[in-house]
Amino acid sequence: MKNIAIATLLIAITLLTSSSTLKKTEFQVKTVVIDAGHGGKDPGTSGSYSVEKDIALEVALKLGGYIKEFLPGVKVIYTRDKDEFIELHERANIANRNEADVFISIHANSLPRNISSARKEAVYGTETYVMGAQNTGRNFEVAKRENAVILLEDDYEKTYDFDPKSPESYILFSLTQSAFQDKSIALATKIQDQFEHRAGRRSLGVKQSSLLVLWSTAMPSVLVEIGYLSNPKEERELNSSSTQGNIASGIFRAFRDYKNDIESLN
Ligand SMILES: [Zn+2]
Repeated sequence: MKNIAIATLLIAITLLTSSSTLKKTEFQVKTVVIDAGHGGKDPGTSGSYSVEKDIALEVALKLGGYIKEFLPGVKVIYTRDKDEFIELHERANIANRNEADVFISIHANSLPRNISSARKEAVYGTETYVMGAQNTGRNFEVAKRENAVILLEDDYEKTYDFDPKSPESYILFSLTQSAFQDKSIALATKIQDQFEHRAGRRSLGVKQSSLLVLWSTAMPSVLVEIGYLSNPKEERELNSSSTQGNIASGIFRAFRDYKNDIESLN
């Protein structure tokens, strides 16, 4: 946990030193980092004919397109805009280096392969995660699956000093994100409301788990699981351009409303 502990300390120091100047800072949402999950040698999870990395990229690019078109004052930065492998810690670094105001990570979900097809047909829908320590049940399954991508990185043991499959690792997960948790939850709630009431997606709600990609970002951060590739109907929908557009526009409207709320505090 050495590197993670040092990173926490640095973030804590940064927060402490910047809190005295917070009053002078205007509340603004000027930069968003959009993170398409996985990529390159890491396909993410898969359905019967499609993989997570491709669908996540399509939705990420559509979301960025809407923000550029309708909120031209907002700078959009992608962690990747093509099929390439980006290490998990680098995704958070990109957001921190660019002093992003919001970090949105796009992923797709799945049940384990050995689950019955009746169960796969019953489980579908969207979830938005914020960083938290509620590592139980499905939340923990999602955290383990999403965090396991670091096993594909060459030096993951040095970089993270963290075993994504070991429950003990998660005990040491501290809440660096807690400073941003209220805002992260506010954005996550808007995204799920949009999915349920405007985008025609089933909402499984806002959830908390120890997701490594959210762990070291120094801004409000959410990870959106846009649907289950293990559900045959949802896999087909997630591969259609119109559903991808509905999902992206739902996230866009939630982001726009969140931005308006934050900026109304000025
Ligand atoms: Zn993923």
